[in-house]
Amino acid sequence: MHSTIDLPTAFPIDLRSDTVTQPTPAMRQAMAAALVGDDVYGEDPTINRLEEMVAARLGKEAALFVPSGTMGNLIAVLSHCGRGDEMILGDQSHIFHYEQGGAAAVGGVHPRTLPNRPDGTLDVQQIEDAIRSDNEHYPITRLIALENTQNRCGGSVLTPDYMEAVGALAQAHGLKLHVDGARLWNAAVALGVSPARLVATADSVSVCFSKGLAAPVGSAVAGSQEFIRRARRMRKQVGGGMRQAGVLAAAALVALEEMVERLAEDHAHARRLAHGLAAIDGIRLDPASVQTNIVYFDVVKPGWRAAQLSTALAAVGVLVNPTASQRLRAVTHYPITAVDIERTVAAVGEALLTEFSRSAP
Ligand SMILES: *Cc1c(COP(=O)(O)O)cnc(C)c1O
Repeated sequence: MHSTIDLPTAFPIDLRSDTVTQPTPAMRQAMAAALVGDDVYGEDPTINRLEEMVAARLGKEAALFVPSGTMGNLIAVLSHCGRGDEMILGDQSHIFHYEQGGAAAVGGVHPRTLPNRPDGTLDVQQIEDAIRSDNEHYPITRLIALENTQNRCGGSVLTPDYMEAVGALAQAHGLKLHVDGARLWNAAVALGVSPARLVATADSVSVCFSKGLAAPVGSAVAGSQEFIRRARRMRKQVGGGMRQAGVLAAAALVALEEMVERLAEDHAHARRLAHGLAAIDGIRLDPASVQTNIVYFDVVKPGWRAAQLSTALAAVGVLVNPTASQRLRAVTHYPITAVDIERTVAAVGEALLTEFSRSAP
């Protein structure tokens, strides 16, 4: 196909997800030099150092390195809940949508969903109303799970006040609070608060090093010593006990030390992208809704569907995922540049002009 936009074809601008990021040169060096040992014996010094640093950053007693965010959430839920117990979570949450129902499939944990509002929150009164009374018809409510940032609500941030309110509710009812913080770092940077403050009332937290922080592999869960003791057993049961995985933890340490503050750059790029896209005829989004590194936008030009726009953009080296019939998602990350953002905005404008006559019915 013909395009008047000058785009590098060898290096697509890949905005499908922040998971497509690449490890930095410093990470590769740290991985090559890492001291390692058998972590199931607790003898990997690099993993031990990472777990201490994560616990300190999150203000928790202990932490545990796990291969993925999905496993982190699964072992956290399984450490809090038994079979037939119920967890309250958002109907737009990653745990509910994108983890194969693992908590139910593996742990027999019953999901009770509540609607996520557009700002990513659950209504606190609705949470309270969903907590089961002591009645033999009902499962036992054990856990509330929140997600910060809230991926499917546009990477929206949940504030410290909100997190505290839900934490207080959980405590008042003897429930546990888990925070899926795959992008907690983004929330903390966007709000200008410490990650520890955001999860101060949480019993457990999962965080990812492999999203915006650009490490190649790895997540962690954090909580009390007692929670981590159970989580460590659960990690082994689901096959996540790793041996000389310090080579991975070494990259995660670099991620924590060097890649957190720079998330502000991704957020600035996302805002710039949102403003650029909003100005294009045939694209609809509210730039004010973009708080971190995720930009959802709708194609509203007659005859166009999201899949067509995604295909047209891929042909000129810009990768964005369609997520619904009219909706697409772009995610900024390392090393997407301001120039990449300008090119993406230009490519969308151009695609809608040049492709329209062909795609019209
Ligand atoms: C990516 C993500 C996870 C975990 O994903 P993995 O690919 O298993 O590491 C969990 N929660 C949220 C909100 C995520 O975005």
